[in-house]
Amino acid sequence: MGADLKSLSIYEQSRQLIPGGVNSPVRAFAAVGGEPVVMKSGKGAWLKDVDGNSYIDYIGSWGPMILGHAEPHVIAAVKDAAERSTSFGAPTEAELDLARLINEAVPSMEMLRLTNSGTEAVMGALRVARGFTGRDMIVKCVGCYHGGADYLLVKAGSGAATLGSPDSAGVPKAFAELTVLVPYNDIEAVRQVFTAHKDNIAALIIEPVAGNMGCVPPQEGYLQGLRELCSEAGVVLVFDEVMTGFRVHHGGAQARYGVRPDLSCFGKIVGGGLPVGAYGGRSEMMQKVAPLGPVYQAGTLSGNPLATAAGIAMLSQLKRSAVYETLEKTGAQLERDILEAANQVGVTVCVQRVASMLTVFFTKGPVRHWDDASACDTKAFAQWHRSLLQEGVYWPPSQFEAAFVSICHDAEVLSLTKKAMEKAFLRLKQSA
Ligand code: PLP
Repeated sequence: MGADLKSLSIYEQSRQLIPGGVNSPVRAFAAVGGEPVVMKSGKGAWLKDVDGNSYIDYIGSWGPMILGHAEPHVIAAVKDAAERSTSFGAPTEAELDLARLINEAVPSMEMLRLTNSGTEAVMGALRVARGFTGRDMIVKCVGCYHGGADYLLVKAGSGAATLGSPDSAGVPKAFAELTVLVPYNDIEAVRQVFTAHKDNIAALIIEPVAGNMGCVPPQEGYLQGLRELCSEAGVVLVFDEVMTGFRVHHGGAQARYGVRPDLSCFGKIVGGGLPVGAYGGRSEMMQKVAPLGPVYQAGTLSGNPLATAAGIAMLSQLKRSAVYETLEKTGAQLERDILEAANQVGVTVCVQRVASMLTVFFTKGPVRHWDDASACDTKAFAQWHRSLLQEGVYWPPSQFEAAFVSICHDAEVLSLTKKAMEKAFLRLKQSA
């Protein structure tokens, strides 16, 4: 399996019209070689490409498909909403329902705004932080990715790191200068930056579990330490939960680690696979947002009826208590299987996992920050990735990404995955 005749033809034609043939760089296979597979349909844990090949999916649309593909409640809700118009540009009850579902699960979201993407959510939250504090600078971690905004494409993770362009061309120097960098999991570095730029820092934004340099959990006390430092310095603590929200816990990473940020950003899962983001938090901050206050942020399609319908269906299903227990068990089983497969043939890897997101790092580990992640053997990863694809396992095509499991990854799917893993590790060992 892998890109076949029809897939290759569509990809070749796309490359003439769409940069790199993809509408988001992580979809290209630039880091692992070969061509991306053109997909046609998905059901549960499975994807089918345009040539009829089937794959077990561990990308899950980069996070949203926590209930698997074509989940019946989500599909029914979207169909039903579409019958009543695809957009109004006026308030709807569904927007209130989705906002309530988010607020119930994440109480720190006292007030919130819906957007069309995670990027927009982050941009909105940081504008609020700047408007609220009257300060300009933002602190972010090297290797964390917070979407495509200019001032955040500075030492960014995800596709930017994969393609070796963590600092994007086209970002004015003056914008990048407003972003100060610290290593992940290093509380002392934050203390120093806060001292050096006293009274100029509006916000510290962080992935509370990093996913965009691969899965890197926060070390014990790190998030609590950030909370204390931000409170002392009057810096707005922003948790970017676009990936971790409704993923690592029903209440996001903030519930899992017991730390309450001032503002949070959501995306991916809250849209059930349709384009949605959300940002919000302390009401005195969110009351700065137009039309209540002077911080402007808007969107023609924000709160779109199809997207809110999908989000409501998704979040309603996620309220079922067994969901996160199942995901935890599945994640743990997958982790054990991968380690067993690697150990059997003596390939050194370090698997880092939080609930249902995980990364197989080709290094001894542990991976605590970007310097650790960037030391991985990316060539070995690429070879392993190609083998997995050949065996029908669709794994993220970069060392610096997290893989995701859904509730549809059942015992049979895991057993097939294990066999594929064993073959992929064996091939890697034999070629070494
Ligand atoms: N923040 C994080 C943590 C992400 O993982 C992403 C996307 O992967 C974003 C923000 C940007 O979200 P979107 O791609 O929906 O704009």
